Amino acid sequence: MILPKSNRLSSEQIAEITAIVGEFGCKIQPIVGAVRTIYAIVGDERDELMINRLEGLDYVDRIDRIQSPFKLMDKRSDLASHRIKLGGVTLGEELLVIAGTCTIDPKNPNYFYETAAAAKEAGAHVLRGGVWKPRTNPYAFQGDVKSLDILMEASRRTGLPVDTEVMEDSHIKLALDAGVHSLQVGARNALNYSLLRAIGRAIAERDTCVLLKRSIHMGPLAEFISAAEYIAAFGNPNVILCPRGTTPTLDGYRNHPDESITPLLKEKTWAPVVVDPSHSVGKATYVPACALAAVAYGADGLCIESHVSPSHGIGDDPKQAVTPDVLALIITQAKQLWTLRRTTAVK
Ligand code: PEP
Ligand code: MN
Repeated sequence: MILPKSNRLSSEQIAEITAIVGEFGCKIQPIVGAVRTIYAIVGDERDELMINRLEGLDYVDRIDRIQSPFKLMDKRSDLASHRIKLGGVTLGEELLVIAGTCTIDPKNPNYFYETAAAAKEAGAHVLRGGVWKPRTNPYAFQGDVKSLDILMEASRRTGLPVDTEVMEDSHIKLALDAGVHSLQVGARNALNYSLLRAIGRAIAERDTCVLLKRSIHMGPLAEFISAAEYIAAFGNPNVILCPRGTTPTLDGYRNHPDESITPLLKEKTWAPVVVDPSHSVGKATYVPACALAAVAYGADGLCIESHVSPSHGIGDDPKQAVTPDVLALIITQAKQLWTLRRTTAVK
């Protein structure tokens, strides 16, 4: 729908927009109001090139799309009935819990093995652990490929699938060759379209999942869903959206918790939402409340950093990781709330 700046377009302007949409197999249908006339684009209006050209006309105020720009991730797309399975859970049917350390310590693998066993015992379905780490400080520990073996060994020992962050082509290949079940796109890379494309290509036709974190630089939710669309467009729609806190607006939490966007995402996309309360608040004491808030907002799962001995951890673990007993409590309460919500939520 074309909304012009003036109340009516001149015949020359109508001729110009008719010619542009005609190149893309569309027509223009004026909708004449008492004061203002708007112009419907009849046909498939999703061609970005067409929209781009129309938006560039100085007499056009804006284009309102009737059709969704998300061909695959939209709630009304053909994929709307697609269900993602991970860790024995069909998302949407049971609360999914991903848990493990922020970073895997390559020198002390037992911390990860013990954390993995404890996470399983607490009820987690998927193990997480950072092999390669995106660190703000270039001198901070950047991860170590040796940790990939530790991650996969923990997977064998527990029988749980694993999730780890990939930041470049070589990571994608190594992780997939090792058998990683879920590739994480971190908050710093969720707007890295070449990485999203590379992941999409690498996992096309595989049952690998992607845990796509929300970038702190993302504004409108369409940016988040478009990032998921990039991956799905290459042939794998197993994309899980992960709000993880956005730029902090107050002193206290590490980030501004954004679990409240869950219902808004669910209005637009069929993609499941797994909230990361750990990075959202950045301090272990606040994680349980944020986790439960996420479930109250309708999250399909949680991704929680946990460590058997947080003070011996690396990266976020000393501050952020919850101990296995706290993890177990969060999982118990989150599951109860999830069931309560499913059975008694106000519609
Ligand atoms: C992480 O999961 O440890 C991490 C670095 O996450 P984020 O990209 O959300 O900061
Ligand atoms: Mn972390």
